[in-house]
Amino acid sequence: VIDVALAGRSYEVRVGTGLLDRIHAEAHGFLEPFGKRAVPIVADAEARRLHGERLQASFRSAGHAIDWYEVTPGECSKSWAELERLTDWLLERGVTRSDHVFALGGGVVGDLVGFACAILKRGCGFVQLPTTLLAQVDSSVGGKTAINANAGKNLIGAFHQPSLVLADTKCLATLPQREMRAGLAEVFKYGLLGDAGFFARVDEQSTAILACDVGVLEPVIAHCVGMKARIVAEDERETKDARALLNLGHTFGHALEAETGFSDKLLHGEAVALGMVLAARFSARRELVALADAEAVADALARAGLPTEIAALGLDCDGTTLARHMRNDKKAEASTVPFILLRAIGEAFVARDVDLADVAAFMDEQL
Ligand code: NAD
Ligand code: ZN
Repeated sequence: VIDVALAGRSYEVRVGTGLLDRIHAEAHGFLEPFGKRAVPIVADAEARRLHGERLQASFRSAGHAIDWYEVTPGECSKSWAELERLTDWLLERGVTRSDHVFALGGGVVGDLVGFACAILKRGCGFVQLPTTLLAQVDSSVGGKTAINANAGKNLIGAFHQPSLVLADTKCLATLPQREMRAGLAEVFKYGLLGDAGFFARVDEQSTAILACDVGVLEPVIAHCVGMKARIVAEDERETKDARALLNLGHTFGHALEAETGFSDKLLHGEAVALGMVLAARFSARRELVALADAEAVADALARAGLPTEIAALGLDCDGTTLARHMRNDKKAEASTVPFILLRAIGEAFVARDVDLADVAAFMDEQL
């Protein structure tokens, strides 16, 4: 159990095997107010197909019925159209401000439901039941919620913290390897930004993690959540540098995602892996970190089967185009783009003096 201790209100993140099979024990406080009413669960269709039955049995044995709402898998569901359909459905069901909506799925469902709950009647509660590695170590914790706009990803959203997060590692047993790897990129990120020992451990244990060996996986997830909880407690709304460090690999990564149209060609975690390698190499180019350390980052990610060379993407664009995507990234302030760079493996910092022309030239070398 990891506590996310915030000024206003705190909540627990529980990591364990089979948490969804004992929903009453884990979440009874959020279920009791429903009484005889069915509990609204918004589920990724695939997560429901694979884990809905055991969740339903778990709710039934606690004396609660479920009202399911299915979300089509994929980034497209983080849309105004889906948000409208979902909020209408929740209102039809008479969800009140003191109710909790349950979100079963990966980051797409978590972000969508979190945002819907932030604005439904000016804010109702929600419980995250993350079913992907990425969602368990990252997106379900910390209260960033969003849908996508035509102008870019995650541009419409709100800070709205969940009341509880139940990360059931049993869910990961059904996750495709490629999605597991994408989540592993975010796991590496925690080590790279602030904990060299953890980076080395993830490198050593990557095979066991990808094989879903819960003895290895659970403490790794708990470690990531613990780091994220500390960072979010320090800087809930990303007004200082602390939370910005979590964007390591993301400014470069988002440019690659934008260029590949946020498609299956490049998963978010894969883009983050490439982005971390680029951040490390760019740091070496600026003589902030040894080139050998930058290449050690690439080697560790490659050993875990993650992409590390953007040349392999076969992008039909130049460095200037990619740099332009970086400027359009929502995290960018008016005149400068903050980049998360490295002083060492395990020591990231926010650089505000990066010249985009320099980035463009660097990207041209990498393409
Ligand atoms: P996702 O939600 O799209 O899930 C990935 C795929 O896995 C989907 O096809 C889904 O159907 C399938 N799936 C889910 N659970 C499964 C299971 N247990 N077994 C088998 N298949 C399963 O993607 P994601 O990687 O979880 O999340 C990505 C999203 O998260 C992006 O939209 C990103 O912007 C967002 N995100 C948000 C934050 C945040 O702080 N809010 C942080 C990082 C990422
Ligand atoms: Zn990410």
